[in-house]
Amino acid sequence: MKISNAKLANGNLVNVEISNGVITKVDKATAGNVTDGIDAKSKLLIPGLVDLHTHLREPGREDAETVLTGSRSAVAGGYTAISAMANTNPVADNAGVVEQIYRLGKSAGLVDVNPIGAVTRGLLGEQLAEMGAMADSIAKVRIFSDDGKCVFDPLIMRRALEYVKTFNGIIAQHAQEPRLTVNAQMNEGIISARIGLPGWPAIAEEAIIARDILLAEHVQSRLHICHVTTAGGVELIRWAKQRGIQVTAEVTPHHLLLTDELVENYDPIYKVNPPLRTQKDVQALREGLAEGVIDIVATDHAPHPSEDKDCEFQAGAFGMVGLETALSVVVKTMIETKLMTWPDLIDRMSVAPARIAGYANQGNEIAVGKSANLILIDLEKNWRVDRDKLKSKSKNTPFNGMEMPSVITDVFHNGEHVLQESQVVEKKSESNE
Ligand SMILES: [Zn+2]
Repeated sequence: MKISNAKLANGNLVNVEISNGVITKVDKATAGNVTDGIDAKSKLLIPGLVDLHTHLREPGREDAETVLTGSRSAVAGGYTAISAMANTNPVADNAGVVEQIYRLGKSAGLVDVNPIGAVTRGLLGEQLAEMGAMADSIAKVRIFSDDGKCVFDPLIMRRALEYVKTFNGIIAQHAQEPRLTVNAQMNEGIISARIGLPGWPAIAEEAIIARDILLAEHVQSRLHICHVTTAGGVELIRWAKQRGIQVTAEVTPHHLLLTDELVENYDPIYKVNPPLRTQKDVQALREGLAEGVIDIVATDHAPHPSEDKDCEFQAGAFGMVGLETALSVVVKTMIETKLMTWPDLIDRMSVAPARIAGYANQGNEIAVGKSANLILIDLEKNWRVDRDKLKSKSKNTPFNGMEMPSVITDVFHNGEHVLQESQVVEKKSESNE
């Protein structure tokens, strides 16, 4: 396969040839008509995006999302690899469940689906899950997380950090001190006080981040902080990195754009865990991401069917879908504001997540011999988010109706053309499902 006239992030116009899933040729584009393959017409060609925080809901809540529908959503958003969080039903806390998710990902065949294993059995926070067996399984799990819940017991957290060192694993923590967030519904601050919803203080997140970076230093292990939302959290991670502690962190697109003021009308579409914070926090997150204190953007794609969202605020489920809007939101908040450049975005959304997770065939430079996980983006076009057109089975996007920059037109997963003219190309074997 040949992709002609593609623009790289450094501005060079190139022709790229792909064979058997690998890039076999990259050379300078010469003006002239394209007779074979794809004419990229100067669209931007970058490595496929990598998400380390996706909720696929299968097994257990296939009405919200499945591995297949989540894979379609990922492809539409420009992802070539996603990491499936462990809070399924049954929980992905043993080799059987992670292998099931891995196989479902393979059979969907659209993106790499890498299961994340639970840290504790049943996400109960009491006994360690079978992390070694999950690491040894065909899914080769390296990221472990009780996401949705915090590993709150410091002794369990210490043991988990020690255990994963044997196979260079990483613990991804959902930082939420449970005693400080009983019944919490939104950010604790001026808005929560005004509208009378129980608040979720920044300290509930920061207390766990502080504790865990010290634990990671003490046992010399790798810690990843999920979805940082507060200015204080960014400061703590900056301090830990300066001290040489092996900590990495992620921010979600929605926390880069939205604030708790949106909750004022009690619309549960804005209900998310951790909650939307203040403009000051948003600014600190943007600066932290630009600086690299926050290593990556992760979607925390959290699909919920409408019956779990279209209800009163207190009864609504926490979470937003995010795979299909992530790139555009990062362009809007980080590139259009001149805080980051395209090479920075490629680092935070592809290179760095692949490095943290150890996904060797992802996040590579566009060069001969590298895996052909690539996407084409039309920078000249805008699009309007229409929830009904999302590929995800769930429609709970906070961005419905919003005008967005940058249209993802093509995705190549291991050399296969899985998104063409922004439409998912289904595998032939799947066509009569
Ligand atoms: Zn979480």
